[in-house]
Amino acid sequence: MKVFMKSFTLILLLTGIVFSACVQCTSCIGTGFITCQDCHGSGEHDKECYSCNGRRYFDNHCNTCEGSGQLTSLCKTCQGEGSSGSKREACYSCQGSGFVKYNCYVCGGGGFKRTECFTCHAQGQIKDKCFTCNGRGKVECSECQGTREICN
Ligand SMILES: [Zn+2]
Ligand SMILES: [Zn+2]
Ligand SMILES: [Zn+2]
Ligand SMILES: [Zn+2]
Ligand SMILES: [Zn+2]
Repeated sequence: MKVFMKSFTLILLLTGIVFSACVQCTSCIGTGFITCQDCHGSGEHDKECYSCNGRRYFDNHCNTCEGSGQLTSLCKTCQGEGSSGSKREACYSCQGSGFVKYNCYVCGGGGFKRTECFTCHAQGQIKDKCFTCNGRGKVECSECQGTREICN
């Protein structure tokens, strides 16, 4: 009789477990969340920089030389007169023009100034929050709806 009661209790116990069985969700390994497939868990996307359109730099017209790349100054040899000496020969430094041209010290003769894009720090790309997971890098498990277990 004692043995019978024991097994009966055991059966009740077992059936009880079976009927209320909840097993750990295998999709999310019981965490309730799965890695966002959209951003592969990083929570963000690389996006082309809207400010420089991915070019990383801005080439601005040089204001100092007005884009010509060259600056002119009075010839030091002839003091801008174009000729020198008693014979009034054409100055060899400025070929008689009285002016000398030299490369713009701001742009180095290129005519434009290159500045780094501040928005992307010259990377050409910026990080954009993943909207699928709202930047969390994970989304609620669709198998268990975030409850972490599958119940029968
Ligand atoms: Zn995501
Ligand atoms: Zn310049
Ligand atoms: Zn000169
Ligand atoms: Zn940029
Ligand atoms: Zn799950």
